[in-house]
Amino acid sequence: MAAIKDSGSISVEDGVATVRGWVQDIRNMGGISFLTLRDRHGTIQITMPKKKVDPDLFGLLTKLPRETAVSITGDVKASNQTSLGLEIIPTSAEVYSEAGVPLPMGVIDKVNVEMDTRLNNRFMDLRKPEIRAIFELKSMMVGLIEEAVRKNGFVQVYTPKISAAGAEGGAELFQVQYFDRPAYLAQSPQLYKQILMSTGLDRIFEIAPAFRAERSNTNRHVTEFISFDGEMSWIENEEEVMAMIEEIIDYVLTGLKERGRKQLEAIGKDISVPARPYPVLTYSECLKIANEGGLGLKDGDDLGTEGEKIVGDAMAAKGIDLYFIAEYPEEAKPFYIMEKDGTPYSFSFDLDYRGQEISSGGQREHRYDRLVARMEKKGLNPEDFSFYLDAFRYGMPPHGGWGIGIERLLVKMLDLPNIREAILFPRDPSRLSP
Ligand code: ATP
Ligand code: MG
Repeated sequence: MAAIKDSGSISVEDGVATVRGWVQDIRNMGGISFLTLRDRHGTIQITMPKKKVDPDLFGLLTKLPRETAVSITGDVKASNQTSLGLEIIPTSAEVYSEAGVPLPMGVIDKVNVEMDTRLNNRFMDLRKPEIRAIFELKSMMVGLIEEAVRKNGFVQVYTPKISAAGAEGGAELFQVQYFDRPAYLAQSPQLYKQILMSTGLDRIFEIAPAFRAERSNTNRHVTEFISFDGEMSWIENEEEVMAMIEEIIDYVLTGLKERGRKQLEAIGKDISVPARPYPVLTYSECLKIANEGGLGLKDGDDLGTEGEKIVGDAMAAKGIDLYFIAEYPEEAKPFYIMEKDGTPYSFSFDLDYRGQEISSGGQREHRYDRLVARMEKKGLNPEDFSFYLDAFRYGMPPHGGWGIGIERLLVKMLDLPNIREAILFPRDPSRLSP
């Protein structure tokens, strides 16, 4: 039986090792040559004293183009010249796939490559350990999110991504051809999450793509992102939902700081875990802060990118990274949010992370008549939503939930400059490939 080996890694037997990886660099120094081989764990030095290595093998290895995929077998020698404390004197090699020349972009060269070039050649960009580390952290982050919600009794669900109607309706929907009729890509699982609240699946979560046909060319919008959605029933108020999000985020930050130590080191970042509870500001307080900071917003206006940033700066001055903004005007929120009766506000909130929204949530309107009235107020035709409204006609518990863009969370956590850094193959108004 073949030994189980880690992908591309080392296997050693009686002082003979076989290593598989990419040729990162070759230095020819006359009587001796060095080849640096890289795999996902790091690099190892192949040392080739001309007199000790078979001439054919020497000729082959010293002429390999950078980034060629190879397997090299040789004697392991202790060495105080290398970071691993060992080197390999090769005795045989197999070239799996020779790299073309020149490379579309460098892997170790210390020159700044534009993001477009990097994204066009993402397979090569990802060979950089500090880039790959972001996606290893993203994977860990999703694992931690799942642990946190499962601990709280949430059931994972999958809702359709092709639908006859959108959650918020309108302009942000991508239309697709569904046989002989139009359909839309899901901008959020909102309506399905809510339907499920009428079933006894009291706490559900989904981690899945969401599509937004927004022509925004910003560092925080893409047209396809991964949304982590949760919905819980039998709640008394939206504060229960906020408490749940706080617990989940705290679990993720704490866990990633611990489990992702190696990857965080590779990208030169640390994660700070904010104290709990996260402060709750009201929308009105934020409006005041934004206007004191120079904006001229009226009651009911969206805080906008600028407003969010000014509030973020004010919070940062107090050493606060994560905070809720609650009680948005009902007018600014979708039909499914519950109004705060007798006020122009609603039981809704955002979670902001250093001046940027990462989540929206709230208590939902579970009363059929009120829900229909809200739809009409927003100019929607309830008949278009009968598949959703039916679930409210036969006993719908009070419920609430949230949507979190996981790339926004990751980007803020790691202090990355652009959401595209946290997506392998980003989609935006001008990018549809690779
Ligand atoms: P924004 O105002 O920042 O554009 P939004 O309020 O339109 O966001 P929601 O509909 O509240 O977004 O979606 C819930 C969450 O999904 C957001 O808080 C964000 O984390 C994420 N999200 C929304 N749109 C995008 C997008 N285009 N790209 C990446 N993430 C997004
Ligand atoms: Mg929002």
